[in-house]
Amino acid sequence: MSARILVVDDLAPNRKLLEARLTAEYFDVIMASSGPEALTICAAGECDIVLLDVMMPGMDGFEVCRRLKQDPNTHHIPVVMVTALDQPADRVRGLEAGADDFLTKPIDEIALAARIRSLGRLKEVFDELRARVAASAVYGAADPLAAAMQEDKRPGTILLVEDRLASANHIKTAFRDLHHVDVEDDPQEALFKASDGHYDLFIVSLGLEGHDGLRLCSQLRSLARTRHIPILIIAEPEDRPKLLRGIELGVNDYLLRPIDRNEIKARVRTQIRRMRYADRLRNDVQASIEMAVIDALTGLNNRRYFETHFGGLVDQAARKGKPISLMILDIDHFKAVNDTHGHDAGDEVLKSFASRTRKVVRASDLVCRFGGEEFVIVMPDTSSTVAARIAERVRSIVEKDPFTVGPNKPAIPITVSIGLAECGHENAPDAMYRRADRALYRSKAAGRNRVTADAA
Ligand code: GH3
Ligand code: MG
Ligand code: MG
Repeated sequence: MSARILVVDDLAPNRKLLEARLTAEYFDVIMASSGPEALTICAAGECDIVLLDVMMPGMDGFEVCRRLKQDPNTHHIPVVMVTALDQPADRVRGLEAGADDFLTKPIDEIALAARIRSLGRLKEVFDELRARVAASAVYGAADPLAAAMQEDKRPGTILLVEDRLASANHIKTAFRDLHHVDVEDDPQEALFKASDGHYDLFIVSLGLEGHDGLRLCSQLRSLARTRHIPILIIAEPEDRPKLLRGIELGVNDYLLRPIDRNEIKARVRTQIRRMRYADRLRNDVQASIEMAVIDALTGLNNRRYFETHFGGLVDQAARKGKPISLMILDIDHFKAVNDTHGHDAGDEVLKSFASRTRKVVRASDLVCRFGGEEFVIVMPDTSSTVAARIAERVRSIVEKDPFTVGPNKPAIPITVSIGLAECGHENAPDAMYRRADRALYRSKAAGRNRVTADAA
């Protein structure tokens, strides 16, 4: 889908000019003649990128930008400030207001198309991530979109691929006290470094002696480890045609020589800020996915995970004609552990119980915390004879050594009762679960600390 660009300018001729240029590049253009009007359009989610005039009566561009960036609902919309004068001071002000990019009038066509294409791609990534965060957000948690917005001001680590010493030093000096810069003059080496270091940004010179900087950019874009890390290229004014290729390859931004110190600082800060924003969104998505299926205390899969996968594993075993066994484990007299040693000690026991158990089963066995002090282990491809042996191994590893729960605290002896069921001919997961549970009950009734199997 082509990006929808909102052009905000108080002067009609300026709007018309930008509209004509953008339409020629097949972008959809929406127009606003004042700051408040622009804010309304953005709040309604009707645009993907904002081109914002700085000088407007009433609310100026800086203020519009600041408001967009402070609102979690519009924070992610890229804003390009269009400045009438090539004033470094304006750029700094725009940056402080949170702008993503700058264009100076008269507007250079290549710069316009290239930056908008790159920002359009960025907006797509943000939209996708935000939708996933919103969809997976845990009820009652603070607004994750607002939390992700908080700028992380820690210094970043930059890999600069540049073979001109003077230029490398110039850039390093620009980031002294701000970011750590590693300089590499060989693209092959740079690729190695890039894939095992934890960089926040790559800056690649297009003028490497005997090498094609764009090839490196394309390689960085195809490696899983570096795919999400922004790339800024440095080019000579006559390299302009290559810039477009770079943007198509997924380069995020570019700078022309001679490098203006304020400009490189501004662009680097924007790239790092955006990458960290996207990272926080990705982490939120990951965390909520995990939270949904993983028990926070023990790190084992939870009951929900068991319930969604158990039936499938039983079906799979039936299809392959393989046995499958189910073990239900319940810690004996666990209430007494809490009562005597406290709830925290009880939690420690549950954690160690989980890790002891995990150690004596195969990686392919599914160990879940069913709830409280009750666990289940699904053992695909395991007959009742083998399952009984594994259950006995679990029982004895639990009984063997008392559980340590902290320095200067007495170790606590623990035992576990286990019920076992092998999948019989009926192949019904529910029936299998009930049989294992019945067997567990018999272990408890017979005095605990034992394994009972329920034959089909
Ligand atoms: P039995 O041998 O019959 O299984 O006795 P029990 O005391 O283990 O069984 P019961 O079901 O009566 O008690 C389970 C206890 O487990 C009660 C509850 O407070 C405790 N418990 C459940 N979840 C947690 C937890 O996450 N942490 C801690 N520390 N205790 C928990
Ligand atoms: Mg118990
Ligand atoms: Mg219980």
